[in-house]
Amino acid sequence: MNKKIYLFGELVENYVDHPIIKPSINACAMTYELSQQPEHEELLTATSSLTGEKINRFTHLHQSSEDLVKKVKMQRLLGQKTGCCFQRCVGFDGFNAVDSVTYDMDAELGTEYNKRFRSYLKYVQENDLIVDGAMTDPKGNRKLAPAQQADLDMFVRIIERRDDGIVVRGSKVHQTGAINSHEILVMPTQTMREEDKDYAVCFAIPADAEGIIYIYGRQSCDTRKMEQTEIDVGNAMFGGQEAVIIFDDLFVPWERVFMAGEYKYSGVLVERFAGYHRQSYGGCKSGVGDVLIGAAQAIARLQGLEGVNHIKDKLIEMIHLNETIYSCGIACSAEGKPTASGTYLIDLMLANICKLNVTRNPYEISRLAQDIAGGILATLPSEKDFNSTAVGHFLEKYLKGSADFSTEDRFRLQRLIENLTLGTGAVGYLTESMHGAGSPQAQRIMIGRLANLNHKEQIAKDLAGVKQKQEVKIEK
Ligand code: SF4
Repeated sequence: MNKKIYLFGELVENYVDHPIIKPSINACAMTYELSQQPEHEELLTATSSLTGEKINRFTHLHQSSEDLVKKVKMQRLLGQKTGCCFQRCVGFDGFNAVDSVTYDMDAELGTEYNKRFRSYLKYVQENDLIVDGAMTDPKGNRKLAPAQQADLDMFVRIIERRDDGIVVRGSKVHQTGAINSHEILVMPTQTMREEDKDYAVCFAIPADAEGIIYIYGRQSCDTRKMEQTEIDVGNAMFGGQEAVIIFDDLFVPWERVFMAGEYKYSGVLVERFAGYHRQSYGGCKSGVGDVLIGAAQAIARLQGLEGVNHIKDKLIEMIHLNETIYSCGIACSAEGKPTASGTYLIDLMLANICKLNVTRNPYEISRLAQDIAGGILATLPSEKDFNSTAVGHFLEKYLKGSADFSTEDRFRLQRLIENLTLGTGAVGYLTESMHGAGSPQAQRIMIGRLANLNHKEQIAKDLAGVKQKQEVKIEK
């Protein structure tokens, strides 16, 4: 595709072969590769509710709670295979949210957004496309609504309505896998008021349309990928990707527009999309957690600490934390219910609990992995020194662990743990766990809203024999 991508201040001519970008493409490619393997067919493919054809699950509208459970299992598998963010879930979650919300809009407003959206999704399914789900706006001053900002472009907005479509301006930030996507599905980032109606906009556009500019996001230690070494990168084959997208007065034809001013529906779209992506983290992050736990056990073995009690204890704690994340992902899926459109929605409370655990558990798992790995994790000389004729033999001799294993294997495992807890992989495993699909406070707000604390108070009062009832209405 002919995309305008900037990295290190320069326009990138051949982005598919760029050493910093290529591993992220490999990670996306795994979503295709596994779908072709018979043993993974059940998780990676589905039967389209729109055409009856076999499709990649990443383009599917969930038709049952079983579909929701399979999604989480698929994401765990992909996390295990890549050890990073494989980027394709954001658009997937966007499809399911946009489908049910546009269905509700059409039923209440008499619009045709759902029909348009489903015909677009058929095109995506038939061509097995990757779609970037673009939600997060820069937001400027967080205390101010979109129309109150000093710069009115801090949220993506409609600047012109024409007979054939709309013209939009603005930016989406932290865009996971944007450059590896065929299409971009833009959604509003928060609840909008009437004054903000030009910001209540949802549409899809080819990722190389005129008027789109990408600026590649840096990751800690990313230039190691340009050193032409393999071990020092830690996870040389795979990596995540983030970018800033600029919509520089982009034209979108009406057949690709799914919301244009219906501000009352922006909040529910954000809530459903965020709920699906908070579910997603129960899958992908537990898969990456499996890799880190495996690396910690392997490095313990290589360093002669196999079977030592405190190491076993730490590994068990890591497993407990990792399976907690996964359990939440499975639970919110198993408790999924159909929306009016027929598309299944996860249990929002449990999805938010899932993501709140994800903002913490990978950090503790990483701390334990670093504890097991030892200080050499942060002091290891470079791969070029290891290969040098002058000093390589010293490193080979003095940095050897258990005599049964090679020094190189010790180097490799230390670098993988470094990647996941300090390097490019930590962007996906740690910071993305904190802020992706919404920062922790966003989950706390949802948990507070959904908890029905008055009901809990009343059942306690009933048991204690307190006569005074709650004045507020008690929901089930
Ligand atoms: Fe998928 Fe996880 Fe990456 Fe989100 S963070 S796109 S759920 S792999």
